[in-house]
Amino acid sequence: AAASPADAAHLLAGAERITVLTGAGISTDSGIPDFRGPQGVWTKDPGAAALFDYDTYMADANVRRTVWQMRRDHPAWQAAPNAAHRALAELDAAGRLRALVTQNIDGLHQAAGVADDHVIEVHGTMKQVACMKCGHRTPAPEVLERLEEESDPRCLVCGGIQKADTISFGQRLKPDVLDAAVQAAAEGAVFVAVGTSLAVHPVAGLCDIALENGVPLVVVNAEETPYDGVAEVVLRGQISEVVPELVKYALGTAG
Ligand code: NAD
Repeated sequence: AAASPADAAHLLAGAERITVLTGAGISTDSGIPDFRGPQGVWTKDPGAAALFDYDTYMADANVRRTVWQMRRDHPAWQAAPNAAHRALAELDAAGRLRALVTQNIDGLHQAAGVADDHVIEVHGTMKQVACMKCGHRTPAPEVLERLEEESDPRCLVCGGIQKADTISFGQRLKPDVLDAAVQAAAEGAVFVAVGTSLAVHPVAGLCDIALENGVPLVVVNAEETPYDGVAEVVLRGQISEVVPELVKYALGTAG
């Protein structure tokens, strides 16, 4: 029989340092499509992945024009946290979250109320723009409003090419951010991976770090992942239903 949230209760009840890894799947119920799921951006248009390649972006002003427009029109600007984001914020408020490592760039965990210093954004954030030459950072809305006049808004400090402060293909993760994620994976009492295909490294490798340190793995994802076989519990349900259930078991409020 398929596992149910109750099957993870023994791992979560009373656990003091729960580490959670989230991916695009936690935000689909907030209206933000994932990349690789059945309705994913790349499933529907495989060519779209090229827009997230760093060298292509830096080399081609037409690509930058397209990407800036996508950033401006991104559904995250209108999105609100869903029940799964809110449940994880409850877990944090109860002092039970070691860290929330997220591959998402949409800021919905912070919007739900998870403490800023408990969110580790391994792939950066779309809420900021960074200059690729001098490193100057600007809130994204200030850059996006310049799109009415300019197709490729340059850095106001040095004239360099700017990009959303996210990690594109061909860019390295920030070492201090990755280190913090590795520590959180190693030091958790349990490692819960939510809404991620666990296909992107090095982030997927956080599951290996957890396992090497004896930390049991719980996977919550509609589709199979490469880590299902080594997970203690695999839950296939809808994330906005499963995660609130898991949090109830963690907090001892399940009925
Ligand atoms: P992914 O698209 O590779 O995988 C998402 C997984 O979630 C899929 O396997 C899908 O079946 C599952 N899923 C989707 N909705 C679900 C639901 N409601 N219930 C249960 N399962 C559900 O996403 P990923 O592993 O995070 O990798 C994609 C990369 O793209 C990440 O690096 C991330 O930075 C970026 N991204 C971010 C956002 C965002 O910020 N919201 C959105 C799209 C992509």
